[in-house]
Amino acid sequence: MHEYPYIVGGQARSGSEGSFEVIEPATGKPFARCAAAGREQLDEAVALARQAFAGWRCSSHEQRGAALSNIAADIEADAEAIARLIVREQGKPLALAMNEVMGGVAWARYRAAQQLPVEVIEDSGQNRIELHRRPLGVVASITPWNWPFMIAVWHIMPALRAGNCVISKPSSLTPLSTLKLGEIIARHVPAGVMSVLTGVGGLGGAMAAHPGIDKIVFTGSTQTGQRVMRDGAVNLKRLTLELGGNDAAIVLPGSDVQQIAGPIFQAAFLNMGQTCAALKRLYVHRSIYQPLCQALVGLAQQAVIGNGLEEGVTFGPVQNPDQLALVEALVADARAQGATVLCGGERLAGEGFFYPPTLVADISDGSRLVDEEQFGPVLPIVAYDDVEEVLQRANASQFALGGSVWGPDGEAAAALAARLESGVAWVNCHAQIRPDTPFGGCKMSGYGVEFGQEGLLAFTAQQLLFRHKG
Ligand code: NDP
Repeated sequence: MHEYPYIVGGQARSGSEGSFEVIEPATGKPFARCAAAGREQLDEAVALARQAFAGWRCSSHEQRGAALSNIAADIEADAEAIARLIVREQGKPLALAMNEVMGGVAWARYRAAQQLPVEVIEDSGQNRIELHRRPLGVVASITPWNWPFMIAVWHIMPALRAGNCVISKPSSLTPLSTLKLGEIIARHVPAGVMSVLTGVGGLGGAMAAHPGIDKIVFTGSTQTGQRVMRDGAVNLKRLTLELGGNDAAIVLPGSDVQQIAGPIFQAAFLNMGQTCAALKRLYVHRSIYQPLCQALVGLAQQAVIGNGLEEGVTFGPVQNPDQLALVEALVADARAQGATVLCGGERLAGEGFFYPPTLVADISDGSRLVDEEQFGPVLPIVAYDDVEEVLQRANASQFALGGSVWGPDGEAAAALAARLESGVAWVNCHAQIRPDTPFGGCKMSGYGVEFGQEGLLAFTAQQLLFRHKG
């Protein structure tokens, strides 16, 4: 079985701590091994990064932009091989994995072209006052298992563009495509600037607590995000935390069911529902509840479930057994409370972690499936009568990543969407994420934003240069 090395300061290394298995969700069996790094390698990667930072921070914007453009070109040249690796470690169908890789290319190119202009606050006979944006130093990126390649790109590209060195730690469930990314990046940046450490047991925690790391950018569960915040307090690390969500969508009366069913299904079941900004609670006005439920069931029945490497497959497995067990428990709880499972609702027999797209009706707030983040292929559909009341229910969550309102009158829908307590409010769409639009959650869904100019500034420290001309 092939063993993938981790990367310290740009160099491939075998595991001082041995190695661990990487499981293929479509078969439930290991298909590769990954070298495991420990604290010693973390210390070494930090020391190399700090050395490299002295030079990298002085590189010009043109140099860093060119490095990112070259990285994007190399990713694109190797897109299919990377996508196949993503399918094997993560489970998504190949076409979606290609979108993940090409999304990474688009993000890298956007970051390559971005500017960090100096803001001149005063230029008079007396003073010239400039606001500069300097890199922070060493940034650690900790990523999850749902979009392993793209989220690593989201974290690493703005960090490098701003002049930081980066140590990336992918989820131990999906380390391989990030190692491939690290290998590509290392070709285009000076030694020491880029490390990818893979390992199990405590590596992420050690990074959060490491005094030589200046910032953590983390995507994952709220619980782990809270630990990162606590551990990072040791040297007041800068933080960007992209955490869980339980996005509500409100469908207003008069909506065209046939028109909205497809986009709603896609937003809920994107990546088998394992997406932070997926639509996770669907509130439908009672006047169109039955027809929308039926239209969604029709779409669920069209899913071709199987190994994502097989031709024609549109719906892959859940990534890991723990997540599958959570989905099973939430559906069992809903059934026990009298909800109706319209389709799906049982794990598929045979190998792999397959669970079909599942729609659950006759359910309401107070049920675990509505109140908790399922992060899997099951959607609760809740009927409502009163728009003001449903808005309160949508907002009555500790999570506040995204939310959406769907309706025939765009202005009215937008007015309601503006009252959602969420970092993003979509109208007649959901989970639309772009490199140029800032994205981040409120409440327990996150801290700080990614993407856009704000997302780049999050990897910088401001320095005011105040020159008195007297
Ligand atoms: P975690 O938050 O546990 O893991 C995310 C990353 O953090 C992984 O790289 C993990 O490493 C690392 N990590 C684990 N413990 C620590 C620590 N103490 N300090 C620093 N880093 C740490 O998420 P899970 O993978 O367990 O997923 C659980 C839930 O998280 C899901 O059910 C879902 O609700 C949510 N989630 C949200 C995502 C999002 O995009 N917002 C993405 C994925 C999950 P390792 O894997 O090696 O333990």
